[in-house]
Amino acid sequence: SKITIAIDGFSSTGKSTVAKQIAKYLGYVYVDSGAMYRAVTFFAMQKGLIDNNHFNVEALISRLNEVEISFKFNEALGFAEVYLNGENIEKQIRTLEVSSFVSQVATVSEVRKQLVRQQQKMGQDKGVVMDGRDIGTVVFPDAELKIFMTASAERRAKRRFNELLERGDAVIYDDVLKNVQERDHIDSNRKDSPLLKAEDAIEIDNSNLSLQEQFEKVLQLAKI
Ligand code: C5P
Repeated sequence: SKITIAIDGFSSTGKSTVAKQIAKYLGYVYVDSGAMYRAVTFFAMQKGLIDNNHFNVEALISRLNEVEISFKFNEALGFAEVYLNGENIEKQIRTLEVSSFVSQVATVSEVRKQLVRQQQKMGQDKGVVMDGRDIGTVVFPDAELKIFMTASAERRAKRRFNELLERGDAVIYDDVLKNVQERDHIDSNRKDSPLLKAEDAIEIDNSNLSLQEQFEKVLQLAKI
């Protein structure tokens, strides 16, 4: 029977790549919880509530009722893209700019509460693979399989750097590395639902594992 698979870990550990593959293979639904925090961040940027100089937390909280996030499966891509109030924002949320604000937005308890509620609804029916930072600890504490992915910071920054280059973004490696380290720091130290390995999570360090090896490892665990 179908289970719930929670995949947590630091930024750019390749969680989503493995999660997507596993979901596809098992016929499960994949949910990118980070995309939801990115969508709220994009909303805050659009409305002028956050920039390099200020973050109007109260205004964001009072306008959270204007944020409607949904996912729609894209056949060509093979995964679900994220929509904000009906607009496809999959591309816009992957910029280094959004990445530079998202962890601050993710410290706001009201934001987390709203997104966690929605994530739990999406996982009601089992057969879900969700990746993020608090999936095994907060969103699905009863998940049958919890994975905690790790890899060296340099490995992860290189991965994210190549992704941004592929998109055609002009980025500097050191900026990407700094962003990955900053997000890890904020994610690990925030008061509400900090990033930590659930007691019953299985840790996979994928620094020296190929995609195929990671896929096989998780699949094996999912079958037990
Ligand atoms: O997974 P991704 O790197 O796209 O997530 C972006 C950011 O969203 C993370 O750095 C983290 O601050 C936040 N996040 C979170 N809880 C989750 C998923 C993401 O706080 N479950």
